[in-house]
Amino acid sequence: MTPLLTVESITKQFASTPVVQDVSFSVYLGEIFALLGPSGCGKTTTLRIIAGFEIADAGTISMAGKTFANSETHVPPESRGIGFVFQDYALFPHKNVLENVAFGLRKVSKKTRQERAFEVLGMVGLTDLHSRLPHHLSGGEQQRVALARAIIARPKLLLLDEPFSSLDPGLRQATREEVRSLLKAEGISAILVTHAQEEALSFAERLGVMKEGTLEQIGTPEAVYRQPKTAYVADFLGQTNFVQAHVKDGIAETPFGRVKVEGADRGDVLLSIRPECLKMIASDSQNNPAKSGRIVGQEFKGHDFTYRVEVDRKYYFVQTDYRCPFQVGDTVLLEAASAVAVMPENT
Ligand code: ATP
Repeated sequence: MTPLLTVESITKQFASTPVVQDVSFSVYLGEIFALLGPSGCGKTTTLRIIAGFEIADAGTISMAGKTFANSETHVPPESRGIGFVFQDYALFPHKNVLENVAFGLRKVSKKTRQERAFEVLGMVGLTDLHSRLPHHLSGGEQQRVALARAIIARPKLLLLDEPFSSLDPGLRQATREEVRSLLKAEGISAILVTHAQEEALSFAERLGVMKEGTLEQIGTPEAVYRQPKTAYVADFLGQTNFVQAHVKDGIAETPFGRVKVEGADRGDVLLSIRPECLKMIASDSQNNPAKSGRIVGQEFKGHDFTYRVEVDRKYYFVQTDYRCPFQVGDTVLLEAASAVAVMPENT
């Protein structure tokens, strides 16, 4: 597969503070990619460099074989064929929906612009609202106007900077699914910037996890969730249990017995064990009492429970479904289905 967009060794400092450091990744034709990381890790700056709003100190941006930016070149944003949707949608308050959308298409006749504006409004289901002003629209509708404006010029690549964050949770999920279907139907590649792991996992086909200006790991949602390379990625992608253990022939000795380990064959390692990979089983007199634990907390989350279990003065999170028979105070044994060896922080 040939990449549509290639970002190579991008570096950017603001007032001698490094904000983006040696970031490289590719986005393939029709692919939805996400940059995920905490606030301030350099996601928006990376996106702005790709769009051409910011000039990198070093590195290369190219798309479809054309160099957009390097030490000698800087193609202006309007000549890159890239669309963007910002967090606040940036709609013109005094222009109606149709005018806002039509603004995304320039250098064509007024008639063509209007026809195309109606076409994309149809795609996002807003034809009936074409004469409304933005402040008479709901958050979700405004988001769709911004999306229509961004795709009216048929960009090859769409940049989405936290576009769902101001929507309430129910609407956020529905809008996310709609946007995703539209991008796939139109074959538009996209980069979503978000600090919400659930959003990146469900929206993107591949994602890059950022930490302090660097890309820590790139992979499919399943790979970064199930096979995190570092403790940082394991922790950022969801709740996990870190366990120090010794591994021999791919099997670790842990407080909950022997566990098959991915990512290490031998030696002292740090393991990440997701709460859903831990199971509580009833403790009876035949079990080794040294390994049994006590349930000290229970959190009800609607579709499941997260328990906190103390084993040997350490606490572990265990996720169960709604049928879990155990209660706070019960003595249980923990069993781990799988574990991944991860690189500790600051190594
Ligand atoms: P958020 O999710 O909060 O938007 P982010 O990961 O997108 O965060 P950036 O917006 O890229 O992060 O910012 C990274 C760092 O660079 C922050 O510390 C920010 O304050 C700083 N920064 C961004 N733009 C500028 C600028 N124009 N001048 C100086 N510092 C800036």
